Amino acid sequence: MAKDYYEILGVSKNATQDDIKKAYRTLVKKYHPDLHPNDKEAAEKFKEINEANEVLSDEKKRKEYDFRQQHPETGGFNGGASGFEGFGGAGGFGGFEDIFGDIFGGFGGRRQSAQTKSKGDDITLELSLSFLDAAKGCRREVIYARNEPCAACKGTGAKNGTAYKTCEKCGGTGQVQYTTSSGFFRSVSVRPCDECKGTGKKILESCSECSGKGYNRVKTKIVVDIPAGADTGSYIRKAGFGEASKNGGAAGDLIIVMKVEPSRIFKRKQFDLYIEVPVSFKTAALGGKIKVPLIDETMDYTIPEGTQSGKIFFVFFKGIKTSRGTGDLYITVLVEVPTRLSREQKKLLENLDEITDMKQCPSMKQYKDNIETMYGKNPYSN
Ligand SMILES: [Zn+2]
Ligand SMILES: [Zn+2]
Repeated sequence: MAKDYYEILGVSKNATQDDIKKAYRTLVKKYHPDLHPNDKEAAEKFKEINEANEVLSDEKKRKEYDFRQQHPETGGFNGGASGFEGFGGAGGFGGFEDIFGDIFGGFGGRRQSAQTKSKGDDITLELSLSFLDAAKGCRREVIYARNEPCAACKGTGAKNGTAYKTCEKCGGTGQVQYTTSSGFFRSVSVRPCDECKGTGKKILESCSECSGKGYNRVKTKIVVDIPAGADTGSYIRKAGFGEASKNGGAAGDLIIVMKVEPSRIFKRKQFDLYIEVPVSFKTAALGGKIKVPLIDETMDYTIPEGTQSGKIFFVFFKGIKTSRGTGDLYITVLVEVPTRLSREQKKLLENLDEITDMKQCPSMKQYKDNIETMYGKNPYSN
C-alpha cells in the first residue's frame, strides 16, 4: 500500500482544494529545510508533504490516486509506468513515482553541506506532446538556458584551468571548523571557508572567457528521442545537462518531464486505448462493419447482430506499441437515436414496433416483470 497522502497533509478524504492548499502551506512552513538544517527526518517529511500536495492538488492525479488506493490490485501509480526504466538509452525514462523522488530528493542535497565539490543544480523542463506524438514516439529539439561549465578553464575559473593554488586557510577542503560555546557547552561546527568562498582554491589569474566564474550562461540546444508510450509525468534525464557546479563539481542533470495533450478520439490508460464509436440503430440491430481509428491507420471492425448501446469490445494488441509491451483497444459502441424524423420514418418505426415481440427485448421484458412483481399488475395496462 502506498503512502496515505491525506494523512500526510492531515486532511480528510473529501477535503476541498482550499483545505488542501491551507494544510500544505502550514506544513511546508513548519518543515522547510531552511528551518531544520541537517535534520534528515524533517527533510524526509518535507519531501513527503510536497509529494502529497503534488498529487492531491491536481484533481486528475488525485482521482487516479484515490482509485488506486481503493483498487490496490491495479498496480503502480499511473499504471506502473515506473517500469519504463531503461527507455531512451543512458537518459533513462522514468515514471511518475520516480520523478517525485528525483525532484524532491534534491531538496536535502541542495543545501550546500560541507562537501568541497557539489554537483550543480538540476534543471527541470516541461515538454508538451500531442497525444499521437507521445503514443508513437518522436524526436524533439529542446532549447533552454543553462550555466554551462566553461571549457576554456575546465570550470575552475582560473586562466587555462591551471592558474590557481590551494587555499591555505582551509587546506583545499573549502570548509573551516569553529568552536562555539554557550554556558557549559562547547561545540565544534564547520562552515564554508570565507577566504575561498568554499571552493578550496585561490585563483591567481581569472579565466577571461568566464571572468573567473567557471561557467557561462548559454542557450543550449539538445535533441531528445522520446520513446513511444510516453505519458504525462514520464521523464527523460540527461546527465550533465543541468547547471554547472559553483565550485568545480559535476554539472547537474536536465530532467525533461512530459505533458501529454488529450485527444479528441482516444483516451488512454497506460498503453491501452479507449474509444467510443457511435453507430446507427440499423448497424447495431443487424450487425456490420464499423470504422475504428488506431494510432497509425483505421481498421474495420465487425460488430455482431443485436449489439446493445454501451457494449464494449476489445481487440488485443491494437493499443500503443512500445518496447515495453503493446496495449489493447477498447471499443465502446454507442447507438445513436436519429432525431427530427420525417413522417415516413415515424410511420416505419411504428410499423416495426407493432411487429416487435417483447421476447426480442429481454431487458424491457425483465423491467416489466420486475415492476409487475412489485405492484402485482401489468404496468402497461392501465
Ligand atoms: Zn579556503
Ligand atoms: Zn572560464
